[in-house]
Amino acid sequence: MSKPRKRISSTPCIRVAPSGIHGIGAFATRDLPAQAFLGLYEGRRYTQAEVDARAWDDQLTYLFGLSNDEFIDGAKGGNGTRHLNHSCEPNCEAVEEYDEAGRLLLKFQTLVAVSAGDELFIDYSLTGDDGSPPSAYLCRCGSPACRGSMLAPAASLEQGPLRLATDVR
Ligand SMILES: [Zn+2]
Repeated sequence: MSKPRKRISSTPCIRVAPSGIHGIGAFATRDLPAQAFLGLYEGRRYTQAEVDARAWDDQLTYLFGLSNDEFIDGAKGGNGTRHLNHSCEPNCEAVEEYDEAGRLLLKFQTLVAVSAGDELFIDYSLTGDDGSPPSAYLCRCGSPACRGSMLAPAASLEQGPLRLATDVR
């Protein structure tokens, strides 16, 4: 009997499972130090004009905006990184980085050390520029520092290079 071949994952440190906070979440498969690489946010790329021209399902969007006005849609060809939920006190972050070809990549990494089984979070810092009311972005992360909203605090809007367009899963 041959065993089923193991699929090679582009995000071996991430396990996708039901979240204690919201829907599906991403969990660490092993103990990780701070700044550990989790994976690249992959998916189909869109320009701002292409995003504007399309109708998106506000309830389930994996659209991640980059500082060069490109967007990555994790729903198409994405990996485990698209399942990180939002927290106002995240243990992970998304960092932009250029590869040798000059392509802008979005790297997910841990902010602090995490233990195997911990749920992984980033701060979505949504811009809310899709016209949805603030009530569409309510946060239930439960952290002591919860802002009550997944929208970016006004200050970080100016310096933060990253924004998710309408991820209100
Ligand atoms: Zn919160």
